[in-house]
Amino acid sequence: MISFYPGPSKVHKDIGAYMQEAVQSGILSQNHRSEAFKELSFDTIELLKLKLEIPSDYWIFYTSSATECWEIIAQSLIRKKSAHLYNGAFGEKWMEYTANLTGNTQKIEFDINSIPETKDIKIEDDCDLICITQNETSNGTQLSNQFIKEIKRQNPEKILALDATSSMAGVYLDFSATDICFASVQKCFGLPAGMAIMVCSPKAIEKALAIGENKHYNSLCFMIEKMKDFQTTYTPNVLSIFLLNRVLASMANIRQTDQLIRARSKDWYSFFREDDLLIRDPASRSDTVIAVKGEEDIIRKIKSDLLKAGILLGNGYGQWAKNTFRIANFPAHEAYEIERLRELLVKII
Ligand SMILES: *Cc1c(COP(=O)(O)O)cnc(C)c1O
Repeated sequence: MISFYPGPSKVHKDIGAYMQEAVQSGILSQNHRSEAFKELSFDTIELLKLKLEIPSDYWIFYTSSATECWEIIAQSLIRKKSAHLYNGAFGEKWMEYTANLTGNTQKIEFDINSIPETKDIKIEDDCDLICITQNETSNGTQLSNQFIKEIKRQNPEKILALDATSSMAGVYLDFSATDICFASVQKCFGLPAGMAIMVCSPKAIEKALAIGENKHYNSLCFMIEKMKDFQTTYTPNVLSIFLLNRVLASMANIRQTDQLIRARSKDWYSFFREDDLLIRDPASRSDTVIAVKGEEDIIRKIKSDLLKAGILLGNGYGQWAKNTFRIANFPAHEAYEIERLRELLVKII
């Protein structure tokens, strides 16, 4: 079966071989304080910086999931209040988790079909953290690097955190315009679920240390202390780190992948009729998650016919659960698999 689900999705074609290599190398039996682990961790972080063009003075942490990153940020990086800019279910969930912990958030919701003008986005003075969902997986929308850079420029004192879970390693992200940027690995990295990476600017590190929150195993201060030596506060998912390392080593530079993904998304958006696309505004459409809408029974039939032919589409999410499906446009998908999906869709639709 080929999975076009937007996460977990089809894994990288060589994952099986890399898993075997991990077992044979002996790394899975190594202690996470060992030199062998530290070397693997260091090398993986260097590869992330190289392949994704992350500034060299940024820090990278391993966490268990994007959800954990939401929690770490809420615990360790907010002095007073956070502002949340979103138009879908993941951005809303991030806001809710944060509100549960801090009791204080500013919500800035916007329509899936119109990105607000940055000059109209007024972050309240007492907000010291801005949370933005760059790629909203639930409805297939995205915000551009330019937009994020402009928000940052207008709020130079504040820390900007970006949820790039379903875009990092798929499209080029300007990390220098963010203080925190995180993603779990089961989306564009093409890895099995169970790990995320969190990228932090020197300014974010400085702020975490100044706040000094130290109540949790995943308090950012503790993570920083351990990461000085490329380690983690708890025994990490060493297999995942190993697989990430190998996938990164075989990966093209992100600028190249970005071109491929954008070319493919352009093809997808012209493949469907305008009326069948959930997102009408072309500027809002995601390059990595394509959302298609229709009558409930038609959507159900498309999904079940494709499943019989060995292809899994993503269900709709939240309010669009029944009248949309989603197609992941991730780097692990091969051209011939996309071609096969198109041929089948042409017959069904
Ligand atoms: C998938 C996803 C998450 C949740 O990821 P987990 O690894 O399950 O925590 C968060 N945000 C976005 C935008 C996502 O697509």
